Amino acid sequence: MIKFLDLQKVNAQYTQELKQVASKVIDSGWYLLGEQLQRFEKQYSQYVGSKYTIGVANGLDALILIIRGYKELGVFKEGDEILVPSNTYIASILAISANGLVPILVEPELESYNIDPDLIEAHVNERTVAILPVHLYGQLCDMERINSIASKYSLKVIEDCAQAHGGIYKNGLKAGNLADAGGHSFYPGKNLGALADGGAITTSNEELYKTLIALRNYGSHIKYQNIYKGMNSRLDEMNAAFLSVKLQHLDVIIQKRRIIAQRYLHEIRNQKIALPHVQNTEAHVWHLFVIRTDEREKLQKHLADCGVQTLIHYPIPPHRQDAYVELSGLSFPISEKIHAEVLSLPISEVMTLDEVSSVIQAVNSYN
Ligand SMILES: *Cc1c(COP(=O)(O)O)cnc(C)c1O
Repeated sequence: MIKFLDLQKVNAQYTQELKQVASKVIDSGWYLLGEQLQRFEKQYSQYVGSKYTIGVANGLDALILIIRGYKELGVFKEGDEILVPSNTYIASILAISANGLVPILVEPELESYNIDPDLIEAHVNERTVAILPVHLYGQLCDMERINSIASKYSLKVIEDCAQAHGGIYKNGLKAGNLADAGGHSFYPGKNLGALADGGAITTSNEELYKTLIALRNYGSHIKYQNIYKGMNSRLDEMNAAFLSVKLQHLDVIIQKRRIIAQRYLHEIRNQKIALPHVQNTEAHVWHLFVIRTDEREKLQKHLADCGVQTLIHYPIPPHRQDAYVELSGLSFPISEKIHAEVLSLPISEVMTLDEVSSVIQAVNSYN
């Protein structure tokens, strides 16, 4: 059986290094907001190219806190609107509603699966304060178009980088350094994964940075002095240390994923299956390799019979979730089509070339 993702194998690559830093953290007697976090934040800022990184508890909190930060700074207020793709993991939308702001869903392009820049402007009104593009499946959005619309209407742009660590847009500029702030997830299954939940915010805005440093720690810069009604959302020392180890390998991880994706793109040949479209190789880090077919259930069963495990990202669109009844009257045909047709093939840095060949053979033998 070829697993969709073998996390045991992923982390076994670094067992020695991980155990070494774990011992160091255990022995240090210091488990939160210490030197491991400071070191990782510095390394991640250097990697992303942003001035600041703020380690937080998970990717959802990263997005929630960015919006919260802008509220504390008086830039956003409750009832304001943020434009977000209708085709995304629900976290992008939860971050907006958790702050009392209103998510305005915008259809994606069928080719890139990302927010359609042509449709953004029609949704901008006097309540609009930001755009929250999601680099879905690891492919970067059209940030030039998005940023130019944002600057025309003085909107903030918040990147959801949860699936896109290390993606390069243009001129060496990386995900998380392409707009005002970026939310990152280190959920174990992400391309850069901790061994627990974890997340980070990147930004080059000093004012926002200072606000977020307090907000993640009970709204406090000085112990027991609370200037905001903050959260407890901290990236712990153990996982910061693990992430420092794994960050050193991230570019190799991405390279290996690109090699597998290239093989899938060149060797999968099946009339019934639509392959992903890639605009620019460097701007895709292949967190997921997502194909599309109108016979998804049959294809998934065929692949399972061939020993290939697949998953669906995602089966139900956010506006069709029970949690968002207020959106249930809206219609997003492109998102609905995507959610009905997508299937994710195994792709990870620990797959062998033989396994990749088996996946290709299994997909090609479907008829
Ligand atoms: C994983 C993910 C998140 C949330 O990250 P967590 O660390 O699981 O909270 C947000 N947005 C997208 C697009 C994601 O894939």
